[in-house]
Amino acid sequence: MPPATQRKRGEGQWALGYREPLNKNEETKKNDDGLNVRRRIIDIYSKAGFDSIDPADLRGRFRWLGLYTQRKPGIDGGKTGSLPDEELDDRYFMLRVRIDGGQLSGPQLRTIADIAVKYARGTADVTDRQNIQYHWIRVEDVPAIWEALEAVGLSTMEACGDTPRVIIGCPLAGIAEDEVLDASPQITEVYDRFIGSPEFSNLPRKFKTAFSGCTAHCTVHEINDVAFVGTVNEAGEAGYQVFVGGGLSTNPMFAQSLGVFVRPEEAADVWKGVISIFRDYGYRRLRHRARIKFLVADWGAARFRDVLEKEYLGRALPDGPEPAAPLPRRDHVGIGRQQDGNFYVGFAPRVGRLNGELLGQIADLAEEYGSGRVRTTAEQKMIILDVPGDRTEALADALGALDLQVRPSTFRRHAMACTGIEYCKLAIVETKQRAMDLVDELEKRLPDFDQPLTINVNGCPNACARIQVADIGLKGQLVVDENGDQVEGFQIHLGGQVGASFGKKVRGLKTTSADLTDYVERVVRRYDEQRAEGESFADWT
Ligand code: SF4
Repeated sequence: MPPATQRKRGEGQWALGYREPLNKNEETKKNDDGLNVRRRIIDIYSKAGFDSIDPADLRGRFRWLGLYTQRKPGIDGGKTGSLPDEELDDRYFMLRVRIDGGQLSGPQLRTIADIAVKYARGTADVTDRQNIQYHWIRVEDVPAIWEALEAVGLSTMEACGDTPRVIIGCPLAGIAEDEVLDASPQITEVYDRFIGSPEFSNLPRKFKTAFSGCTAHCTVHEINDVAFVGTVNEAGEAGYQVFVGGGLSTNPMFAQSLGVFVRPEEAADVWKGVISIFRDYGYRRLRHRARIKFLVADWGAARFRDVLEKEYLGRALPDGPEPAAPLPRRDHVGIGRQQDGNFYVGFAPRVGRLNGELLGQIADLAEEYGSGRVRTTAEQKMIILDVPGDRTEALADALGALDLQVRPSTFRRHAMACTGIEYCKLAIVETKQRAMDLVDELEKRLPDFDQPLTINVNGCPNACARIQVADIGLKGQLVVDENGDQVEGFQIHLGGQVGASFGKKVRGLKTTSADLTDYVERVVRRYDEQRAEGESFADWT
């Protein structure tokens, strides 16, 4: 493909003079900054109710404050995409709370739990970007929810929309004994300087950031729009490598290294340079080509670095070390030692499904056994920090009594599922409950299987649960069963691994939801019988 600048038709890049909106989304953003909807929610919509909401706010700008209309219950997946929004939209909202770096204090977790019980019919899932997601939110309650969140330093600002979304970070930042560096100060700096700023509230599309000094690479930097990864240069100084242009969904791509070394104190400015390139040069004509990965794919890492240095930073960055080979498994489930001699205890709710009552109980345990500090992970799991060594087993037992396992089966440990048809308007199939049932059944049928294996379940062709990089990725769609009827099912991707390979889509490899467990069992049994010693699922497929 020729570089964007040589193409005949403009891609809507602001830096090349295309300032006029080329589609409806761009028009909505130009008409009014998404951030301005906050005032209207407080002053008008929460008082006058759902029917008073301007449609451009309802299905557009509300996202800038973390609000999406949820799917009306009872509409089957076959109708997804064919019904107008008004028929698909419920009068309730999904609300996403951003938890940058996944770091929560005791009072913050308790507030999140209380809001779930009071305003969200108890719902509260942990997402694979470390957020907490509520459902059943009424617009009337949003100001009170914001007030409660903001009182403990939390926010829903830019949790969705064409904005800099939550910054993910290693949940053990500042804790893990073997970390390269603690990225928390950089996460805080970027948040404080740029989140909620009109400077970056009109991007071509969403922008996902990861900042981490974790040796396990748990923030999956390869699939973020920009990622800062802890490294040590030749002089023994700790800093960051920078990766740009990763993303899944359609046209999945792994991020490319810019080959630079960035000192921690310079990182926020480099982040600003990268997001500014995206804002100015990103493609705004077609939504499905608007993520930064398409620009990076067209330009290449060398040109991207050149533009960053010359046009945005005004100086060259030093070269950094070569990126490390991708790590096959990256989580923090289980018990581990902290830098201060205490221990962390990571546990696995099933596919991120939690609720307000349970979060309250987790807050109780975190206070009773630790300091109250809790973390969310980028794999839909959680961690309690600061537990004395002689109390870890008692905490593991107490969590186990809540079905939050510290030593889960491989299936429970690595499974993830997106929101699915229960609440998501784009979904074609059920995901959370399906995945939970699958995990339970595999635990019964294959109790001795202990190899690492990721099973990720999506309700549609998007990539919210990262199916393309799972060992077994399940993409929800309608399939034809043995009677010739259209039923819920999945297309199967096999052998994906973050940073190394995308799962192979074998033509025709599909299963109905009813046959899903049998299918997965067969594949896992075959792998277990045929694998060589130490051979991963991705290598075996
Ligand atoms: Fe919704 Fe599809 Fe994302 Fe699942 S993958 S949450 S169904 S958009």
